Amino acid sequence: MQIKNSALSLILEAQDLKSLDEIKLQFLGRSGKLTLAIKDIGKLPKEQRPEVGVLANEVKKVIEEALEQKVSSIKYQASSIRKKQIDTTAPGIKPNIGHLHPLSLVLYEVIDVFKSLGFVAADGPEIETDYYNFEALNIPKDHPARDTQQTLYLDTRNSRVAPGEIILRTQTSAMQGRVMEKIAPPVRVIVPGKNFRYEQVDASHSFEFWQIEGFLVDKEVRLTDLFGTIDYVLRKLMGQNIKLKFATTNFPFVEPGVDTYIQCTVCAGKGCSFCKQNGWSEIMPAGMIHPNVLNAVGYDPQKLSGFAFAIGFSRLVTLRYQMDDLRLLTNPDLRILEQF
Ligand SMILES: [Zn+2]
Repeated sequence: MQIKNSALSLILEAQDLKSLDEIKLQFLGRSGKLTLAIKDIGKLPKEQRPEVGVLANEVKKVIEEALEQKVSSIKYQASSIRKKQIDTTAPGIKPNIGHLHPLSLVLYEVIDVFKSLGFVAADGPEIETDYYNFEALNIPKDHPARDTQQTLYLDTRNSRVAPGEIILRTQTSAMQGRVMEKIAPPVRVIVPGKNFRYEQVDASHSFEFWQIEGFLVDKEVRLTDLFGTIDYVLRKLMGQNIKLKFATTNFPFVEPGVDTYIQCTVCAGKGCSFCKQNGWSEIMPAGMIHPNVLNAVGYDPQKLSGFAFAIGFSRLVTLRYQMDDLRLLTNPDLRILEQF
């Protein structure tokens, strides 16, 4: 009994595995206290031997169990302490840091450049009415210009809307009517947004593409104001050394119509698949707003004039970073996106 108590109190006080080993040796070793006591059982009177033997075995068992428990508790404490310790010299895990998509990066720049010229940015619906997308822009129902914009119509069956009246907008110009109806002139507005057309997808075309519509209406606005604005904005965004050229063109909502071409930055004008081998890329159709468009929103074309333009934004971003395919802009591959 004495042996048991002194062994247990020693085990309880032990702080490390080494002292437990010593306690084990002290009691259960070859010349340990308990071992010797068990050996002495043989010297006892015969009738006492079985009782003391059983008791001694129980004591041995209790001491062994107490030792085992203490060993595992010391081991557990050691491991949990190790876990809590912070190695301040370890190199650490580098977190992944997100960043803006190239479309957003350039869009914020475009908005800043136009802001410096007094423009405000507006947002409009991607599901649009035929009226704002076409008719308010001097493109009546039977106009051949509709054929150039492969329009996606929404299914209006089971609704009160007449067939063909609701579409996915084909141009952000649809916002001209919406804005000018509400705001008295002068106006300076840009409208960044997505457009949709039923287009064959290739390196420079997509069924879904970004455009930045812009329009300015005031007294005595001239074609030279349009040229100056386009030249200033594109050089700010694409670099002072870009080459630009203007060509006359025909859009129903402008008179005269102007098309802006930028020398292809992918091939530096030599010709590649992006510019369809001609060295120039159409980037910004524009022109003086047609009097019919001003009339449609209640502006007096005798007193007011204005210009409008539509930056092919997906194409602009592609050319800015000399990508040879605008489909890369909607590719979620991180190897591409991490380059920006
Ligand atoms: Zn090219």
